[in-house]
Amino acid sequence: MFVGHYGPSFAIRALRPEIPLWLLFLAAQLVDVAWTLLVLGGIEKLRIAPGITAASPLDLYYMPYTHSLVAALLWALGAAILCRFAFRWRGWQAALWVGAAVLSHWVIDWLVHRPDLPLYGDSVKVGLGLWNHIGLSLGLEVLVVVSGVWLYLKQTRGFTSVGRYGPVVFVVLMLAIQVTSIVGPPPPSPAAVAASGLGAYLVFAAIAAWIDRQRSTPCRAIARA
Ligand SMILES: [Zn+2]
Repeated sequence: MFVGHYGPSFAIRALRPEIPLWLLFLAAQLVDVAWTLLVLGGIEKLRIAPGITAASPLDLYYMPYTHSLVAALLWALGAAILCRFAFRWRGWQAALWVGAAVLSHWVIDWLVHRPDLPLYGDSVKVGLGLWNHIGLSLGLEVLVVVSGVWLYLKQTRGFTSVGRYGPVVFVVLMLAIQVTSIVGPPPPSPAAVAASGLGAYLVFAAIAAWIDRQRSTPCRAIARA
C-alpha cells in the first residue's frame, strides 16, 4: 500500500482547512520516510524476496523503530507536538489530526502487510496480509484514496486548470506508478527500494503543495479550535 496512504491526507485536508495538504502527505508517510532513512543507514532491514506476497516482493524482517505499533504511536505523538509549536494553530486539535494522519499509516499497513509489523520492539508481529490478494489490496487502495480525494474535491474549488484537474490526474498517475511497481520486475536492492521510496514521498508532497495552492482552502471549517 502506497497511494492508499494519501486517502487520509486528502480527507483530513478537507476537514481541517488550516493544515496544508503537503504536510498531511508527509504525515501519512512519516514512518515510511523514517524507514527509508533507517534502511539507508543500515539500521532497519529488508530483503528482496520475489513471491513473498503477490503484490510486494519485500521481506520486511526488521523495522522496530518505524513500524512497530508502539513506535508508530510515538512518531504520531512527536509529530503532533512538533506541529503544535511549529505552526500558529490555536489549540491542539489540528496538531492531533496531523498525529492521526501519522498513525493512519500503521493501520493501513496492518491491513495489507503480511505479519511483519511488530506490536513493540521486534516482537509479536501482525498483519492481515491483503497483499496476498492483488485485486483485494488494490481495490481497497483505490477505495481509500478515491474516498479521500472525493471529500477534498467537494470541499475545495480549483481556480486554475492545474487546481481543477490536478488532483484527479495526480491520483491516477500515482495509481499507475503503483500498478507498474506490482507488475514490473522486483527492485534490484534494499537501498534502491529505500532511495526511490524517499524520492517519491518528497516529490509527491511537493506536487501536492503545488496543486493545493491552486485550489481554495476548504470551505467548511469544522470545529475550529
Ligand atoms: Zn509503511
